[in-house]
Amino acid sequence: METKHIKIKDLISQASDMEDAADLIRSGEVVAFPTETVYGLGADGLNEEAVKKIFQAKGRPQDNPLILHVDSLEMLKRLIVEIPKDAYLCMDKFWPGPLTILFKRTHIVPGIITAGLDTVAIRMPSHPIALELIKKSNTPIAAPSANTSGRPSPTRASHVIQDMDGKIAMIIDGGETGVGLESTVLDLTEDVPMILRPGGVTLEDLREFLPQVIIDPGLLEGTGDHVTPKSPGQKYRHYAPKALMILFSGDGDKVVGEILERARKDEAEGKKVGLLVTEENQHRYPEKNIVVMGSSMDKNTIAHGLFDAIRKLDEMDVDIILCESVEEDQIGMAIMNRLFKAAGGNRIYL
Ligand code: AMP
Ligand code: MG
Repeated sequence: METKHIKIKDLISQASDMEDAADLIRSGEVVAFPTETVYGLGADGLNEEAVKKIFQAKGRPQDNPLILHVDSLEMLKRLIVEIPKDAYLCMDKFWPGPLTILFKRTHIVPGIITAGLDTVAIRMPSHPIALELIKKSNTPIAAPSANTSGRPSPTRASHVIQDMDGKIAMIIDGGETGVGLESTVLDLTEDVPMILRPGGVTLEDLREFLPQVIIDPGLLEGTGDHVTPKSPGQKYRHYAPKALMILFSGDGDKVVGEILERARKDEAEGKKVGLLVTEENQHRYPEKNIVVMGSSMDKNTIAHGLFDAIRKLDEMDVDIILCESVEEDQIGMAIMNRLFKAAGGNRIYL
């Protein structure tokens, strides 16, 4: 399939380009578009055949449900049974924005969206292009990240092109995404609110409004076979580079020492070693095949560039990536969740 490419700089003068994109959504095609988290792979969320094309383009397992994106409360209300009180609080504070909320669904929502669950995950994005696309399409848009399943999520149109060119109808280039990591997924369908995936809205942000909020225990214990996470997506290897990756955590000096030691050993065995490190420690490593994720004092910047950094290491064709950790407070929790998954659970505590 020939993929149309458009670049949107100004929504007003380019209204007809956005109309073309919405026409494609309405006619059951797949369009990649920027959001404030990462690029999304969008299709009409009420059209089962259109949603199937998302799964095909990504190679995504059918038991991993999708998030629906809405532009208004009216659109939301058609999809769900009720809006719990806590949801009003969160929507008031964090919508539009990087918070996905689980609701009890109505029968309008096709089973393919929810992998047969009786809940549906919904968010209202704040990116102007995303909002305009939903509005013009006049339907909730199902949109997982626009990467091949398992690969790092795209934060630039060039990443989407790498994974999706020739597989979907259109790619909208709207520049780099903001947060750089996916939305926080929050379950409000049970007695206690639970974070199923850490993301752009942090635990600390949520606690101000929902002091009782907890984290899915499956998230903290990792993804061993004995744990069944509530969010089906959490059980898969994700965000992953082609190379083997190892994450080092703990005392800063020990981490640097261990990475240097491990790099020496692997290089002696003829492997090409890549390093993913913080700005503070950069000078302590050799300059070869090194990507700096940013300063540990500025974790929002790390989040913004993290997936691009992982893709860069892939482009260097390294065999193994040795990676530093950051503190798990604030957005650091989402950063460490993505790094842990990218490393397929390979984490060494020092
Ligand atoms: P992605 O589409 O890649 O941003 O991933 C969406 C995330 O939301 C995955 O981890 C899904 O498993 C999760 N999710 C979507 N819908 C539901 C649901 N109804 N119940 C639990 N988790 C969900
Ligand atoms: Mg994804």
